[in-house]
Amino acid sequence: MASSKQLLRVAHRYLSTRGGVNLSAAAQEAAAAGASDEKALNFDVSDTQRELQLLARKFAREEILPNAAEHDKTGAFPWELFKKAWSIGLLNLFVPEKYGGPELGCVESCLVGEEFAYGCTGILTALQGTGLAAAPIMLGASDEQKKKYLGRLIEEPVVGAYCVTEPGAGSDVNGVKTRAEKKGDEYVINGQKMWITGGGVASWYFVLARTDADPKAPPGKAFTGFIMDANTPGITPGRKEQMLGQRASDTRGITFEDVRVKKENIIMGEGAGFRLAMGAFDKTRPPVAAGAVGLAQRAVDEATRYALERKTFGTAIINHQAIAHLLAEMAIGVELSRLMTLKSAWEIDNGRKNTYLASIAKAYAGETAVKSASDAIQIFGGNGYNNDYPVEKLYRDAKIFQIYEGTSQVQKLIISRELVGRFKQAGL
Ligand SMILES: Cc1cc2nc3c(=O)[nH]c(=O)nc-3n(C[C@H](O)[C@H](O)[C@H](O)COP(=O)(O)OP(=O)(O)OC[C@H]3O[C@@H](n4cnc5c(N)ncnc54)[C@H](O)[C@@H]3O)c2cc1C
Repeated sequence: MASSKQLLRVAHRYLSTRGGVNLSAAAQEAAAAGASDEKALNFDVSDTQRELQLLARKFAREEILPNAAEHDKTGAFPWELFKKAWSIGLLNLFVPEKYGGPELGCVESCLVGEEFAYGCTGILTALQGTGLAAAPIMLGASDEQKKKYLGRLIEEPVVGAYCVTEPGAGSDVNGVKTRAEKKGDEYVINGQKMWITGGGVASWYFVLARTDADPKAPPGKAFTGFIMDANTPGITPGRKEQMLGQRASDTRGITFEDVRVKKENIIMGEGAGFRLAMGAFDKTRPPVAAGAVGLAQRAVDEATRYALERKTFGTAIINHQAIAHLLAEMAIGVELSRLMTLKSAWEIDNGRKNTYLASIAKAYAGETAVKSASDAIQIFGGNGYNNDYPVEKLYRDAKIFQIYEGTSQVQKLIISRELVGRFKQAGL
């Protein structure tokens, strides 16, 4: 039997061919894209999404938050929390049913990510970082590769890592120097990666390497994406980086020395690596933005509580308009960031290209997280500058949201490029 959505689409198509009803061009486009009135501008989460959100909230408040300061101090990877979150089904939501996963969308990853982030964004990155490594696999891997690597995420609590950045190439991915040379049925990989999230704890890696020696080869042909087990001989993770914030997350350089992998380890074919590595961000930038939203919301809540309690000049500081307005500005940032984050996730879940919105969400939410944490410290005064209070950590943790998964400057490059494309396409 046809679903109501299918019926609506048929009705739209039928009516648009009749003289009596004139659908607007926008409505026709929406109908063709599969949109239905049921979905039009509905800001509610579904019952299932609400359940997932509440489960993640409970886990974040009862498990992550109480352990956050300790992991910040020791820098230990939160294996216990990772295993608990995995066992109750809060990790790897994107894995298709076919490989044993729940096959949930980007919206669900954002809802869960925001909750985790409220507890600690270092632990969030440790728990959700595998999503970035899995995204190129989701995009272009063969059925066999998906079964092996995505299936493994569901079978046991393991981490995957995305290895693209190098000491000399971060924003400029075309500058990647790691080489993969074809020798018979194998590729021999040599090079150095840097800033790899999960680098020392991952069971498998997505690795971007140059397969075309010609320095003039276009990026769309020069690079290849490989998937490999972390225990492949020749792979050596470096020391754990001592970071400003997000210290629970394991970040390292990795050396590849004469690492031999079979051609079966290539994802989507030689030359497709750049597309895979960049395409991954459409799926992962919304959840990263959600992490920034969770941190910013925590900053608002901590600062509000403090402003209601702290007294100066005979009254709670919330009664000073300057403080009340600072809180209002923080709230504006959080609400707008959340809306844009969920919209960018919703777009990709509905099969639409979301590059433009994902970059807007990532850039805006990243800036909001840093500003909210900074303003929270301001509201705490001297106490905010001390690690007896939680906002000092929020400030250190927030900064990375303007750097990883593409810096704020790079997001603005993407947004402006997309904007010009849209402008030209519209014939304006
Ligand atoms: C904690 C952490 C975790 C990370 N995790 C991973 C990971 O798991 N996998 C991975 O592959 N990478 C990872 N990264 C790397 C991260 O994505 C890069 O650090 C980031 O993309 C910036 O690259 P870069 O550090 O080389 O800075 P650069 O590219 O050298 O940039 C330096 C500055 O110049 C600006 N800039 C550069 N180019 C332009 C331009 N064209 N226009 C305007 N401004 C520009 C940048 O915005 C920045 O402000 C991680 C980094 C950190 C710090």
